[in-house]
Amino acid sequence: ESLINRIAAGEIIHRPASALKELLENCLDAGATSIRVTVKDGGMKLLQIQDNGCGIRKADLPILAERFTTSKLSTFSDLSRITTYGFRGEALASMSHVAHLSVVTKTKTETCAWKAHYLDGVLVEPKPGQTADPKPCAGNDGTTIIIEDLFYNTPTRLSALRSASEEYSRILDVITKYAVHNPKVSFSCKKAGSPSPDLSTPSSSEIPQAIRLLYGHSIAKDLLHASFGPKNNTDGDEEMEEEKASDSWTAETHFTNANYQSKKMIFLLFINHRLVESSRMKRALEAVYSGVLPKGASPFIYLSLQINPPRRRRQHQIADTLQRSLASQSHSRVFEYQTLLT
Ligand code: ADP
Ligand code: MG
Repeated sequence: ESLINRIAAGEIIHRPASALKELLENCLDAGATSIRVTVKDGGMKLLQIQDNGCGIRKADLPILAERFTTSKLSTFSDLSRITTYGFRGEALASMSHVAHLSVVTKTKTETCAWKAHYLDGVLVEPKPGQTADPKPCAGNDGTTIIIEDLFYNTPTRLSALRSASEEYSRILDVITKYAVHNPKVSFSCKKAGSPSPDLSTPSSSEIPQAIRLLYGHSIAKDLLHASFGPKNNTDGDEEMEEEKASDSWTAETHFTNANYQSKKMIFLLFINHRLVESSRMKRALEAVYSGVLPKGASPFIYLSLQINPPRRRRQHQIADTLQRSLASQSHSRVFEYQTLLT
């Protein structure tokens, strides 16, 4: 059974950066305005993430790492969110099957912080002979999650990883993208023992400023902004009118104009505030630029989609609609993307 759990966990946690993504989302869900990441050996030895969010109640600690334990499911109607993005109650459980997981947490009403250790889904004693109960300790409001020795018991996962420096750069990439999407939140990331962070963002910024800080001035000076959705998009688009009123979506995008030409496309896609990979969406947007940029030149695109209900199937429809609205001059009233580019 534990082997099955480990395999299942490996499907969710592929590498340090994917563990970090889950942990970051938890911090943001907890309302954190400051997120500090510390990494040792590309996250294989240590991945520590400290936030100043709402904290976890002591009473919730015993079952925290059990599968499908989530505080984010208030009503049954939220079920579709569980099966799509986030909110599955599987991240911490998975980590406890493939790493040593420790939690230090304090809510505002608690007088001290509590520390707990987990292994294979259950609360365990920190040292032999001690009890498994959470232990009181000093700590600020918020939560620190400590992941040690990731994949210590899954050698195939471990051997599939790249060098520590490459895993670290993937970690920085994930944090960078979340920092763009959450410019009001201050992020930092450093290697354990290093005096200065490798990445650090201020709080209360805006998306274009965050892009400038994290991706450089050359992108920022060629940056355009647009937001749109099916509601603006009513000039005879039959497919859109077929969409039920409850099936709504909106898009917000910051993208470079034709002056900006990079060798590699930089594409940040967030769907319902979750960082998502979508080659379909990427190709659709690439196609819009292909007529404008010289061969071999690529854009920077940040795209945040809100899809309700968040079914994966709808991504494909939206990719198509986006491509058509973006590329077609006849939709100029909707979104003068092509015009802005040239
Ligand atoms: P999910 O995010 O899908 O609910 P997780 O396994 O990622 O599942 O987390 C389980 C639960 O642990 C969350 O629902 C939340 O209640 C709590 N939790 C995890 N991380 C944090 C955090 N940084 N701050 C506050 N609560 C947290
Ligand atoms: Mg989560």
